[in-house]
Amino acid sequence: RCGFVAIVGRPNVGKSTLMNHLIGQKISITSKKAQTTRHRVNGIYTEPNAQFVFVDTPGFQTYHKGALNEALNNSVKDSLANVDCVLFVLEAMRLSAADREVIALLPKKTPVILVLNKLDKAKDRLLLSAFIEEARAEFPFTDVEVVSAKHGQRLGELLDKVRPHL
Ligand code: GDP
Ligand code: MG
Repeated sequence: RCGFVAIVGRPNVGKSTLMNHLIGQKISITSKKAQTTRHRVNGIYTEPNAQFVFVDTPGFQTYHKGALNEALNNSVKDSLANVDCVLFVLEAMRLSAADREVIALLPKKTPVILVLNKLDKAKDRLLLSAFIEEARAEFPFTDVEVVSAKHGQRLGELLDKVRPHL
């Protein structure tokens, strides 16, 4: 099994931290899937029977700088639609206009997993489950996982939810 996994979200939610902790080892890509030329591969996590290829989305950073136009928008949507799974990262207990702008670009036919990061900052379980409900109302997410990228918490559980989509 080998699949492409895009990590998206507004700046500062912890995408880079998550990426770094998910990638246990960096080795060259063995897949000949078409996406290889389409996406910028950031790192690969290899298990005996599975390879998770984490990718950046072309144009996404520019999008955040405000240089948004229809072509760019379509290019981001095209990229997101051509991975096997999308990780949409939110910072626990924060759902802003910037997050909603990214949600608007999420693909409809590709599994999108909601990743609530910075679990360490959200101690109140009731508030956290209310927040999860609020976030789930924004988009038909395939699945949800709560993690702390910085502290490496629940990343195995997250990979368990991605693996079936590879
Ligand atoms: P990006 O812009 O989405 O790539 O976010 P970064 O990975 O650069 O992280 C932004 C900030 O959030 C940094 O200061 C990280 O140390 C911090 N951060 C990331 N993950 C966590 C986490 O799980 N808990 C806490 N408390 N901070 C985090
Ligand atoms: Mg980053």
